[in-house]
Amino acid sequence: MLKSSSRKTVLCAVGAAVTCAALLVVVAQQQQRSSSSAHGDAHGDAEVGMRTLQSVAELEVDGGVQSDQAAAAQDGGGGKKGFSAYFSKLTRSRRDAEKPTAAVAGAPSSAPAEELRPEDLFIAVKTTKKFHQPRLDLLLETWISRNVQQTYIFTDGEDEELKKKMGNHVINTNCSAAHSRQALSCKMAVEYDKFIESGKKWFCHVDDDNYMNVKTLVKLLSLYPHTQDLYIGKPSLDRPIEATERLGDNKMRPVNFWFATGGAGFCVSRGLALKMSPWASGGHFMNTAEKIRLPDDCTIGYIIESVLGVPLTRSNLFHSHLENLQQVSQSEVHKQITLSYGMFENKRNIINMKGVFPVQEDPSRFKSVHCLLYPDTPWCPPQVTY
Ligand code: UDP
Ligand code: MN
Repeated sequence: MLKSSSRKTVLCAVGAAVTCAALLVVVAQQQQRSSSSAHGDAHGDAEVGMRTLQSVAELEVDGGVQSDQAAAAQDGGGGKKGFSAYFSKLTRSRRDAEKPTAAVAGAPSSAPAEELRPEDLFIAVKTTKKFHQPRLDLLLETWISRNVQQTYIFTDGEDEELKKKMGNHVINTNCSAAHSRQALSCKMAVEYDKFIESGKKWFCHVDDDNYMNVKTLVKLLSLYPHTQDLYIGKPSLDRPIEATERLGDNKMRPVNFWFATGGAGFCVSRGLALKMSPWASGGHFMNTAEKIRLPDDCTIGYIIESVLGVPLTRSNLFHSHLENLQQVSQSEVHKQITLSYGMFENKRNIINMKGVFPVQEDPSRFKSVHCLLYPDTPWCPPQVTY
């Protein structure tokens, strides 16, 4: 976590600097747009917007880009600097958190559409060898221990200890261990193929810094038939991402679409996943990702919203560390579907929870969350109920 956070701090600083420079271009551009849009010249704007995004991507130390940088750059495109954009995002999250937690906006009804069991889910956890010990072990001790049957680990290196615990639910993708756009898309492509092969009803993806409450997830997904088209998660931008689709012959086309942040987790129904096949199966996912040159989670959003025309269903129960996790209400921790943890400006971004373990012993708060949900866990201290 520390390494990733310091990298992130550097990236935030770089992102902010670039975004400031981009701001000047964008402001000029917007002035131009207000005079040129009347002449139907909106396309050029989106392409320049994307170039701004790419220039941020190219500054990334590993040569890749993550969706949070995409988010920062996009917010920059909206005329805000990186940090102020981050804070306005936090304000938005607070507003979101204050809304009643009706599971999903536009949920069909609270009556289950089908009976769903945890085994009907395919939960893909994306990790990398260097995070097996510092991140994955915590998940194995907590939520994965109760959900081995439906959880699959996608990594990039052999680990005999991990294999002993998870058996053939550990998949060595043989993708590069770099944090690059291509390496991450390579993993997502394998996740997709393995899900299709599994025959399960729902594909859900999380990162290795997510806690997943599978019971609440099953409850939410059971509201929808898995044969229908459903893409559910939480966007980290407050508007659609602007990208440029490469059509070949040097032709380009601006595209706008919503995507669910991979770091908050998202799910796709089998019905929809099957329709994604021409753009997602085999080597197609990597090609599609190259077409828009955006990270794996954006590529999923592009295939679903832009290509297939299926809108993202939002849920406030998914949480990444791009939002202010302090805003998750203590009394509603048990209702959330995913949680995360991270650092921002050398401060911990974690949920605010009293919990059975102090922050020093449980910096992510995941152990405390787990004891709240599963108090019968042997390593959970006995809880006094009044
Ligand atoms: N990750 C990866 N390869 C890497 C670095 C990270 O597969 O070289 C995975 C990591 O295990 C996690 C996800 O990518 O599941 C996001 O990484 P991280 O949380 O470090 O970065 P974020 O994008 O959230 O800032
Ligand atoms: Mn993360």
